[in-house]
Amino acid sequence: MGFFDKLKEGLGKTKSSFDEKLNSAFSAFRKVDEELLEELEEILITSDIGLDTSVNIISNLRTRIKKENIKEAEEVKQALREEMEEILNIDNTMNLQTKPSVILVVGVNGVGKTTSIGKIANRLKKDGKKIVIAAADTFRAAAVEQLEIWSKRAGCDIVKKEEGTDPASVVYEAIKITKETNADVLICDTAGRLHNKKYLMDELEKINRVINKELPEASKEVLLVLDATTGQNAISQVKAFSETTEVTGLVLTKLDGTAKGGAVFGIVNENKIPVKFIGVGEQIDDMEKFDAKEFIKAIL
Ligand code: GDP
Ligand code: MG
Repeated sequence: MGFFDKLKEGLGKTKSSFDEKLNSAFSAFRKVDEELLEELEEILITSDIGLDTSVNIISNLRTRIKKENIKEAEEVKQALREEMEEILNIDNTMNLQTKPSVILVVGVNGVGKTTSIGKIANRLKKDGKKIVIAAADTFRAAAVEQLEIWSKRAGCDIVKKEEGTDPASVVYEAIKITKETNADVLICDTAGRLHNKKYLMDELEKINRVINKELPEASKEVLLVLDATTGQNAISQVKAFSETTEVTGLVLTKLDGTAKGGAVFGIVNENKIPVKFIGVGEQIDDMEKFDAKEFIKAIL
């Protein structure tokens, strides 16, 4: 099964509930009026899209209906699709201009950071880039072992130290090796113990300082990984991490098994941070660059 089919299947639950509600709203369609718009707004809200974002989309739709004098049900549906796509349509190219560039991967435990690093490293490797991976989640030995398996799969070098080592020192060492081996991209894994938030954020700050000091000119991406099955809760994770570090992109994982695909709209709209990659499974190829148009196609 190809990536888009997996995405479509993964978002199947979101799509069918959405379709059902839309069909019922349009079944008694007579004309485009405020009642219909309210009904559509209600549908968005009950599809995990979030209150503010739903109001936003419908308000844009209302303006558009007036401006374009829309009268047909099909036209309303198409305009709704386009307005929803607009929310997700933020420039999401990866900024990896310099050699080397750095990708720092952050997020709470279990969201799929390590897995996503394996997938992203594999993609970049296929693009002909030389990758070094830093095992800066030193909290558990198992985390390093897991990352090692992924780096082997992707065919990339890994820099690791023993359990409990200061994560910033692993990053320091990895930067050294990145420079020595003339690698293109350094990808850093990190720990995600949000229950010990202060400690975690201090750790991230220290890692950031090392990167900024050792590679001041380097392009830097900070990718926040979010588990799509957590829906709206992901918004609070974006807020928590944004306090410490400038998140440049989101990675949404586990879109293969969620009925909460609608949450993506609220997550993006409320933070204005683009989704850069999406994950639809546990295999190395189950990750693609995010494409708003494709996503809308799979969900509506
Ligand atoms: P981390 O704690 O953030 O590093 O998360 P891991 O990378 O260890 O992933 C946690 C679990 O989520 C593992 O069992 C992964 O196989 C699984 N996982 C990660 N990404 C996806 C995805 O896109 N789809 C599915 N179904 N599972 C995923
Ligand atoms: Mg991990």
